[in-house]
Amino acid sequence: MTDDRPIAEMLPEIERHVELGRTVYLKWTCPACGERAIANDPNRYCTQGYLHEEKKDGSPCGFLYRGDLFGYLVLGPMIPFSFQ
Ligand SMILES: [Zn+2]
Repeated sequence: MTDDRPIAEMLPEIERHVELGRTVYLKWTCPACGERAIANDPNRYCTQGYLHEEKKDGSPCGFLYRGDLFGYLVLGPMIPFSFQ
């Protein structure tokens, strides 16, 4: 189970992360092999679909995911908590 959501719904919050200098990688579940896959290129949504190149055991998958449901991973500077 994942908390994936439609990409259109997430794009505004992803753009906000990018504006704040963070790096965002889209993730999806590959329908062919069921593994969780992560995009190679950060900070972009590729409308051509996402290729699951390699499975966790190193064997090739090659399934092109053209679905709508994604999650994402955020890396980079977080806003420090401030006391006022
Ligand atoms: Zn796969």
